[in-house]
Amino acid sequence: KTEALPRERYRSFLEDQDQRTGSFLEIGVPEVWDCASGATGSDLTDFPLAVKDNIAVEGYHLTCGSSMLQSLNAPYTATAVERLVRAGALVVGKTNMDEFGMGSSTANTPLGTTVNPWDHSRVAGGSSGGSAAAVAQQLVPVALGSDTGGSVRQPAAFCGVYGLKPTYGAVSRFGLTAYASSLETIGVLGARIEDVTAVFRAIRGEDPRDQTSRAWPHQENSKAGPTGAGGSSGAIGVLQGDLGLSPEVERNYQATKQALTDLGYRLEPVRLSTLDYVVPAYYTIATAEASANLARYNGIRYGHQPAFAENPEELMRKARSQALGDEVKLRILLGTFVLRSGFQDQFYLRAQKIRTLIRQELDRVYQGVQALLMPVFPRQAFLRDPADGMDSFQQKVADRFTCTANLAGLPSLAVPTGLEEGLPVGMQLMGPAFSEEDLCGVAQELS
Ligand code: GLN
Repeated sequence: KTEALPRERYRSFLEDQDQRTGSFLEIGVPEVWDCASGATGSDLTDFPLAVKDNIAVEGYHLTCGSSMLQSLNAPYTATAVERLVRAGALVVGKTNMDEFGMGSSTANTPLGTTVNPWDHSRVAGGSSGGSAAAVAQQLVPVALGSDTGGSVRQPAAFCGVYGLKPTYGAVSRFGLTAYASSLETIGVLGARIEDVTAVFRAIRGEDPRDQTSRAWPHQENSKAGPTGAGGSSGAIGVLQGDLGLSPEVERNYQATKQALTDLGYRLEPVRLSTLDYVVPAYYTIATAEASANLARYNGIRYGHQPAFAENPEELMRKARSQALGDEVKLRILLGTFVLRSGFQDQFYLRAQKIRTLIRQELDRVYQGVQALLMPVFPRQAFLRDPADGMDSFQQKVADRFTCTANLAGLPSLAVPTGLEEGLPVGMQLMGPAFSEEDLCGVAQELS
């Protein structure tokens, strides 16, 4: 631990640094501040924590990156945050994000763009881009994000930090604003794998306030199941064939495979026949769930209210058309389209069947390997200028490596695997359910 930094100095340090990247939407170093700004080890006492602004923390706003909720105060605190605070953590601010978690850039919000700390002309990734940039800038050692289809891992890869998306249900979602409830988890971003592991250990476990949460099935802090089970120990699956990666990401994938071989792992070639169906299935299910989850923003119970309306219908219409962004509206429309009566077989149910196939295929793969090594994203942080970067369709297609874990409900850890052309690259280690400790262990060896 480093010397405690005086509260006011830390706050002005955060405010000052934040002007460079726009990582934070709100900074609020607590009164009880007596805290080191350095590494935390596994001790969580007095360590600074940043929280994505779709996770409720009493005393802060809960904007979800949307004009709709810009003035909403969080009415309670999320279980994950509550557990960290109980362990001694101090929330120092709320981080920027794509509106309601929909996006891959943290530019898709009316509340201000977060830029990549490595290169300000590039995006930080998203949707937890504020959390990733704050960690990469060393403003906080750890930040919480949420991952519905890659939103912790992709910005972690773009900013060169670790990003853990836990097993579905391993961490309570109480206090996480819903986007696509069956896919999403609260996740951890950190500069050091030890900190990510320590924070994950503190937040995981059953919570009576989230019916989908599960008790951690292993002995506390022990290595998880797969190692040694069924002769899978030491084998890591790697994807075969042309994955459509940029030359830089391809080079890094090969180098990471080599690094694992050097550590004594056996590489097993794996072909995922379901990979091509991941994005269509994800965007069908995610938009369907989003259309239902976002129906609550009706101008009456939450957030933005139009100045004037003749009747309740006009009130809702105006509230939603004024305060939701275009991408959010598009996804609500897509969601209602795929759920339309008479068409469910064609879209939603088909996507659910694909989802089952993905899970079954991965279950088979994990009979033979303890983890899968995959790229996080086909390319590095793209340029902010849409003309030179990626359009929103290209961004969606590029989600194929990350959405797999969400559809299957399985854990995945983005690991910073070095720089190519001066920019970070991240690879993800995906494993069977509740294998987080194992994934962190492999990452630790790679570090
Ligand atoms: N790129 C994904 C999307 O736009 C990220 C979603 C997420 O994980 N919140 O849906």
